[in-house]
Amino acid sequence: MKAEIISTGTELLLGQITDTNSPYLAAELPLLGIDLYWITHVGDNQPRIVEALKRAWERSDIIITTGGLGPTEGDITREAIAELMGEPLKIDREILEGLRSMFSKRGVEMPQRNIKQAHIIPSARAIPNAVGTAPGWWVEHEGKIILALPGPPWEMQRMWLNEIKPRLEPKLSGEVIISRIIKTAGIPEAKLDEMVSPLLSSTNPTLALYAKMDGIQLRLTAKARKRAKAEELIAQAESRLKAILGQAIWGFDEDALEVLTGNMLRERKLSLATMESCTGGLLASTITDVPGSSDYFKGGLVAYSARAKAAFGVDAKLLAQKGTVDPEVAAAMAKAARLRLEADIGIGVTGVAGPAEIEGKPVGTVYIAIDGGDSKKSSFSALYPPRRPLVKRQAVVSALFKLRQLLLSW
Ligand code: ATP
Repeated sequence: MKAEIISTGTELLLGQITDTNSPYLAAELPLLGIDLYWITHVGDNQPRIVEALKRAWERSDIIITTGGLGPTEGDITREAIAELMGEPLKIDREILEGLRSMFSKRGVEMPQRNIKQAHIIPSARAIPNAVGTAPGWWVEHEGKIILALPGPPWEMQRMWLNEIKPRLEPKLSGEVIISRIIKTAGIPEAKLDEMVSPLLSSTNPTLALYAKMDGIQLRLTAKARKRAKAEELIAQAESRLKAILGQAIWGFDEDALEVLTGNMLRERKLSLATMESCTGGLLASTITDVPGSSDYFKGGLVAYSARAKAAFGVDAKLLAQKGTVDPEVAAAMAKAARLRLEADIGIGVTGVAGPAEIEGKPVGTVYIAIDGGDSKKSSFSALYPPRRPLVKRQAVVSALFKLRQLLLSW
């Protein structure tokens, strides 16, 4: 079954609100084995909504609209569907009574405008809205289904989960689509693409690559009549990817590096401290996003200037000799953080976030060092794309990824 979503609302096109209804439904549809091929945004304009509906009617089996079911003049989804179907809108006594009683329970008289919400066409059934006034519509005609859901996300989700999904499930072929996200770091996208190319031509599961802030993600998507079969297809492809990519894989699905490394530190009973320059505390902030991080995180020093680095224990002579953006300085920062905060492991991060180069080093240069005492050390340098927020974020990801690698052999 092919589905299409039409999110209505001029606010969406003006950039005043972000469409969260489509991503919600986009994540729900594969669980029912429904392929989503198109998402359209259209303003509160009847001819354009009708145009979008006509196109959807020609190419999709299920059309889901969100928004435009309210009582105001600008809410025209019902009118647009009626025009598409060529059917007249008539007042439905039952819906009208339902609306009246909802208002009287609240102790107010129903405004005349709300009568609009009691209109329906012969092919439509009203879908109750437990948390708002706008009933949804379920329209069925010539084997196609149009589902008109309200715009407010909470109302839309409630209606989807409680009213739509249970009625849709029995009509479906019973196929399920499941996805698995495999998270990698340390291998550039083009190289990764080359390495996994034998799997890229597979149609079930399909494999796709996405560049994300925390590295390159691979997404496997399998489709089968039974969930167990889809899971088996994913598991087979996943083990092939593991064999190809080895340690570059650091996590799956919802995994986050700060959570994984935090768990590893806790398991090994190790503590951590940081000294950051170009990331300005973002590494410490990310580490402390994790509840319970006080179990292993001793603290983070933000040493932005050479003077601050020296004050926190980095050798002033080294700073005078090397400057602030230097691999040896990163190593000294890691060691100083470890010693100053009496932690087992210290991380030092220094670099050039931009916009201007520092000490002849280009924007995007980052040096990271991890010091676990004795021989347990690691260092890393990178040149990231020269965009300040990106450099900071990438440096944090790299630091955590390198920490993970060191901890794996701890
Ligand atoms: P109402 O009865 O509240 O008027 P409605 O079905 O007519 O509901 P809209 O008027 O289109 O819905 O939207 C109402 C509000 O719901 C918007 O102002 C916005 O806050 C939210 N909303 C609508 N569509 C979306 C969307 N696609 N994503 C996120 N929020 C949305």
